[in-house]
Amino acid sequence: MDLAMKPEDVAFRDEVRAFLKENLTEDLKAHARLTPGILADQDLRVEWLKRLYKRGWAAPSWPKQYGGAGFNVMQRFIWASECAAAGAPAGSNMGLSMVGPTLMGHGTEEQKAHYLPRILDGTDWWCQGYSEPGSGSDLASLQCRAVSDGDDYIINGTKLWTTGAHQSNKMFCLVRTDTSAKPQEGISFILIDDFPAKGIKIDPIITLAGDHEVNQVFFDDVRVPKKNRVGAENNGWTVAKYLLEFERGGAAHGAALKNALNKLRTMAGMERDGDGRKLIDDPAFRRKIDELDVEATSVEFTEHRIMSQLSNGQNPGAAASIIKLKGADTNQKITELGVEAIAYYAQPDVIEARTWGSNTKPVGADHTLMVMPKYLNTRAQTIFGGSNEVQRNIMAKAVLGL
Ligand SMILES: Cc1cc2nc3c(=O)[nH]c(=O)nc-3n(C[C@H](O)[C@H](O)[C@H](O)COP(=O)(O)OP(=O)(O)OC[C@H]3O[C@@H](n4cnc5c(N)ncnc54)[C@H](O)[C@@H]3O)c2cc1C
Repeated sequence: MDLAMKPEDVAFRDEVRAFLKENLTEDLKAHARLTPGILADQDLRVEWLKRLYKRGWAAPSWPKQYGGAGFNVMQRFIWASECAAAGAPAGSNMGLSMVGPTLMGHGTEEQKAHYLPRILDGTDWWCQGYSEPGSGSDLASLQCRAVSDGDDYIINGTKLWTTGAHQSNKMFCLVRTDTSAKPQEGISFILIDDFPAKGIKIDPIITLAGDHEVNQVFFDDVRVPKKNRVGAENNGWTVAKYLLEFERGGAAHGAALKNALNKLRTMAGMERDGDGRKLIDDPAFRRKIDELDVEATSVEFTEHRIMSQLSNGQNPGAAASIIKLKGADTNQKITELGVEAIAYYAQPDVIEARTWGSNTKPVGADHTLMVMPKYLNTRAQTIFGGSNEVQRNIMAKAVLGL
């Protein structure tokens, strides 16, 4: 893996910068800045995707044959770094990051032809129905039941912590199709096309930061055609695990971490320490930032390895767990240092000041506004997509052979 920029990489970087200058509107940037997690405004999410789609860049990691950008490793790195530095909305699109790669690996030709273009052009937004009450880390114990009825399944049960269910028109879901088999062997992977259809109820869950990102979804006799199953009946666990590698390994952590650190440095240049000097000139604080920079660099290089594997047609494997764990840990530490930097200005949470279109001002300087919401939002990062403990278990088995 040669990461030195060649002339064609510099040309590509300039092309990306020109695209971002023209397409990343002030509305998109402002909204992305005011969002601690995923973009709350669905219209803006669609608008951003459509702009990317028009340029052929909606799916940087998908191969060209499926309408992806077909970027090489270096181009993906440049793309992620430039987007993060320019303040583009974080790419939380489960269709692009999870459903697409899973269908490419396990879907039928008909499923690929139908769903992939609709993900790319923003017709479909997907949410993930894996977790249930009592079935998160122990996912194989899930109870949501799909009973065969002719050409259909009839689904009853509930899914918990479903990110973006309220912004989605499709759900990919794990359901129990056999109660007599071993837990892993009685699960099927289903695409719910008509979401939310009759019989589906979505209840919001408001998080610690005051945001609506997650939900609980209830199914009451929901009919789904069997042709919407991915993989064989009762073989959903294999498909589910394949998808999880993309969920854990697909995010552009390194560039986002480096960008968050740059913002932290700027902020520390505006804050004072107890002796009245700029916080950034305090050697103890600087050391903390530099230590995190080393961690962010290690995440970035692991990510390059994963990208390189993906470009060679391999799936991320256990490296996805390494990056999920280290990326989440480092991000949490960066947001902790942010809270330390602004000290007591972290306390007042002026939710109106970060409401889209509001002219309410934060209590402290502008740069303090999103520090606490981001800190609170990132607490979930070491839980969703598989907790740190679960990632360590995977690494212990798959990497260390314990
Ligand atoms: C913000 C957020 C968004 C989410 N979005 C989605 C989504 O869109 N779709 C979806 O399906 N799910 C989603 N989840 C659910 C997420 O995947 C689960 O919360 C996660 O897998 C943990 O499961 P749990 O909540 O049941 O906790 P538990 O599994 O009950 O875990 C509780 C604690 O026990 C530890 N633990 C559990 N098992 C072990 C073990 N074997 N060894 C060591 N320690 C263990 C865990 O690490 C954790 O600290 C989301 C969760 C959050 C918080």
